Amino acid sequence: MMGSPGSGKTTVGRLVGQKLGLRTLDIDDDHLEPYWKMTVAEKLAEVGSDRFIEEEGKALLEFNAQNSVVSLTGSNPMHEESMSYVSKSGMVVFLDVENEDIVQRLERMKVNRIVGQGPGVTMSDILQYRQQFYEKSYDVRIIVEKNETQESISNKVVEVVKRTKNHKGYVSTRRIPNEEELKSMTFFDVVLKGLAQDGGLFIPAFKIPRFSLGELDRLVSMDYSDRALRVLEKWISPYDCHPSKLKEFIFKAYSNESFGSSLVFPVRHLEGNQYLCELFHGPTASFKDGAMQLMPQFFMEAIKSSERDIGNACKYLILVATSGDTGGAVLDGFSRHSGNSKIGVMVLYPEEGISEVQKKQMTSMAGDNIHVVGIRGDFDVCQSLVKRAFTDNILSMLLIQSTGADLFLRLCSTVSAYLELVRMGVVEMGSDVDLCVPTGNFGNILAAFYAKEMGVPFNQLICASNKLVHYDLRKRSLIQSFSPAMDILVSSNLERYIYHKSDSETVRHCFDSLIENRFFKLPKEVGYLLDPHTAVGKVVADKCQTKNRPVIIASTAHYEKFAPEVLRILGNDMGNAPVSDMFDKLSNICSKPAKHNNLRDVLSRPKVHQKVLEGDYKKVTGDIENFAKRI
Ligand SMILES: *Cc1c(COP(=O)(O)O)cnc(C)c1O
Repeated sequence: MMGSPGSGKTTVGRLVGQKLGLRTLDIDDDHLEPYWKMTVAEKLAEVGSDRFIEEEGKALLEFNAQNSVVSLTGSNPMHEESMSYVSKSGMVVFLDVENEDIVQRLERMKVNRIVGQGPGVTMSDILQYRQQFYEKSYDVRIIVEKNETQESISNKVVEVVKRTKNHKGYVSTRRIPNEEELKSMTFFDVVLKGLAQDGGLFIPAFKIPRFSLGELDRLVSMDYSDRALRVLEKWISPYDCHPSKLKEFIFKAYSNESFGSSLVFPVRHLEGNQYLCELFHGPTASFKDGAMQLMPQFFMEAIKSSERDIGNACKYLILVATSGDTGGAVLDGFSRHSGNSKIGVMVLYPEEGISEVQKKQMTSMAGDNIHVVGIRGDFDVCQSLVKRAFTDNILSMLLIQSTGADLFLRLCSTVSAYLELVRMGVVEMGSDVDLCVPTGNFGNILAAFYAKEMGVPFNQLICASNKLVHYDLRKRSLIQSFSPAMDILVSSNLERYIYHKSDSETVRHCFDSLIENRFFKLPKEVGYLLDPHTAVGKVVADKCQTKNRPVIIASTAHYEKFAPEVLRILGNDMGNAPVSDMFDKLSNICSKPAKHNNLRDVLSRPKVHQKVLEGDYKKVTGDIENFAKRI
């Protein structure tokens, strides 16, 4: 047990010991004092505050215990070497209590000074300073709620320890695995494999983790990266990816440089009871950046750990089918986060039916290890080509289809959108809100379903779609629209959803809001430019929204990505004018949201990928193999 002085380590430790039937030890009383043969206060007086940490660390290195719950001291985590020793021999549980609460508790306990607190330094300052050491040293974090009882905290510890020790991995939607296999697929396996070999998709075999409202409340005042870290810690076992790594990846992914602000995905009022969650501030201006700035980092880590296992024999080719936005986001993510490694990225996009800006983003990405190919066919054709190539094992090298683990990453933005509404004072923690998501491959709405299952108070989850709605592919043909990422008939993630649903008797989730809606008009009075995907979301929210409940509409792309289409809808068709002129025109028509940072640069890049192929399996796999030889 680790945490600030006054976080309750000793009492909680004792309760946890009782519940787990383990011995309880306190580093102060049971180790330091007998080891030093004097009280901690005497030692502190003897060596002084500065040397104390060192002496305490040395003593900890001499400590041995098994089958015990051990309460560390508040200053132990400041000694790195001894903490890494501790973490090798057991699970470090961090009781993460809000500093303000600690200050109050310490006042009640009449503690007015702690180790390392120099003159003139307030208790709050020193606690804040120490936080970084705690953040570096834990394996699992317990988010302690305001006024939470020791009993409740200890129950959480017991649950988390059990869950972490018996962590179940990931399974395919198409097969019920045996007990042995349940543990065999780790998070990094899923990152590397993407699709299950049987053609199914991976889903977690473990119970969906939950947040209490008190825990969510602690996240309200945080920046996006800190929220995301706490969400992902609940999903990803520390034995798969340690929280210290997770934190490093998250902070790299969601830097101000890439997303413009630490809010990352800000929420703003649209009109009435409608709020937009702006998911488009990333480098390629769609919400796909949210996952794709993180995925490549997980991927590199997964390669590192698999090469440790099987030797340095693998070459990697990331094969992506895109409906327009994923391709650009993957190319940007890998070029930023994969270092100098030779990983090939190949993107298949529908030659007809994505926007000019989207096409330009991808076909102008230079690099020996990048191959971008247009396919004469729609996204469904591209996706089925990729899936088939994958299940056929067409290459001896590892093929990746990047739709596996990114669901958790999307989940973070959904959880965060709710927290933003609370932070803005629109709702109180615990009040229901609805969520309306423009839907193509069902990824976002599935992430929303997971967020709701985690305990975020979402009521209706509304799927905004351009078309359909019986899931019967025999009679349907695709209606092309201006929102290409939604022009998808065979929604991949529907499979995950069906799995979860058929696994449970209760109807947990409102999924009846798929609306026939072939066209839309931008609402003029709003004074805000929506991209065509978000506009579909808005139209559907107008129809489905419950009167008194706020709705968050996921704003999935920046309107500039669809500048010609948006202008045409607004009655300002500019024909073949340069797209940059269209950007100017649009920002003159409406100043909200602000122009995107990167898209203008994209327009001036030369096109480097010219290839367009028929949607023919042999031709495409031939091209994949040729590219694979070059990397
Ligand atoms: C990908 C995408 C969607 C659809 O999201 P899914 O997760 O596939 O349902 C909607 N809008 C935009 C702009 C997209 O790029």
